[in-house]
Amino acid sequence: MAKNDDLISRAQQVQLGNYRPAPFVLARGRGCEVWDVEDNRYLDLSGGIAVLSVGHSHPTLAKAIAEQAGQLMHVSNLFYNDKAILLAEQIVKRTVFDRIYFANSGTEANEAMLKLARRYHFDAGDTERVEFVATEKSFHGRTMGALSVTGQPKYHDGMRPLIGPVHFAPYNDLAAMDEFIGPKTAAVIVEPVQAEGGIFVGDDAYLQGLRRLCDERGALLLFDEVQTGYGRTGKFLGREWSGVVPDACSLAKGIAGGFPLGAMAVTEKVAGGLPPGTHASTFGGNALACAAGLATLKVFDDEDLLSVCEARGAYLAKGLADVVATCDAATEQRGRGLLQGVVLADDVDPMATLAKLREHKLLLTLAGGVVLRFAPALNVREAELDEGLAIVKRVLADAPKK
Ligand SMILES: *Cc1c(COP(=O)(O)O)cnc(C)c1O
Repeated sequence: MAKNDDLISRAQQVQLGNYRPAPFVLARGRGCEVWDVEDNRYLDLSGGIAVLSVGHSHPTLAKAIAEQAGQLMHVSNLFYNDKAILLAEQIVKRTVFDRIYFANSGTEANEAMLKLARRYHFDAGDTERVEFVATEKSFHGRTMGALSVTGQPKYHDGMRPLIGPVHFAPYNDLAAMDEFIGPKTAAVIVEPVQAEGGIFVGDDAYLQGLRRLCDERGALLLFDEVQTGYGRTGKFLGREWSGVVPDACSLAKGIAGGFPLGAMAVTEKVAGGLPPGTHASTFGGNALACAAGLATLKVFDDEDLLSVCEARGAYLAKGLADVVATCDAATEQRGRGLLQGVVLADDVDPMATLAKLREHKLLLTLAGGVVLRFAPALNVREAELDEGLAIVKRVLADAPKK
């Protein structure tokens, strides 16, 4: 079998080069463990960036995908398929939303929300409502629409002109939002917890205030739950912490346990916003992805994952608070459920720290450039969290400096 170095040099010949991957090639995984092509074992507490809600290659999920692949994969959206109907029913049953549109990714789910917002007002005869209000440090995806409402200038460089108008307000700052939401606002888009931006938890009063402002001024409220949805924060959706009901929310990442799937969930009020012909996706809602989505929910129920996530999240938060208390290299712990972060001190080199953690066979990712992000499978075991925390402590005790 080819070795890490051989495959990486081949990758460098044929892959685009828009990523900066770690220097090994992964070949298999189970639960929170992965192995590279040379059979080195790594503890994965990154969860494929909050995607592996039920862990790597969960047998229930793998079996459902294999069975569905042998039965029916795709028929196009000109025909119903049974799995898409069953999955939409399940999501409606578990949330406050009434109808579901399926896409293939988070950015696509957000595109659907942005288009829904404009078209909703257009159909109501309000053709002036075309603007969006978003937050600084937000992340909504890489396609042009989602990128345009992403509040991180580094992702905009070289990509302008973007789609607008879009106004950006600091996160958790209701007064700043108050100034931007007006008669031209189609929608406000916000993450209940800013994840990529650095793990900033939205205050309940802030999110509730956004709902009030949008209602008063006729704008829609859109929640990007691509990372916070599907149990990640210890509740099925992140919105449940504040009780706020947005007009629509986007889902992806953990929704099918690693299989590509995205969704937009909407309330009845805006359900007519995208009439036939206004939006579509060739692959969206295909039977194979939806079977994976159904199997993921089966594991949620079989393993009571929402309760497990809440308990393991509290355990991890406590462990990370202890890291902050004992390591000068870490200054703050924050997060919710199994979306947790530790802020690295100013003099610590984040990329070198990540690399050193990998040398100790622990996989994590950064958020906001300076936050070590933990987003493991929701069924991560306490022993695995202990193993990861011990490695973090060991590495941060002698953290690489800038
Ligand atoms: C990851 C992410 C996206 C983009 O999802 P893709 O599947 O990569 O397109 C959008 N919003 C949030 C909050 C995310 O975390």
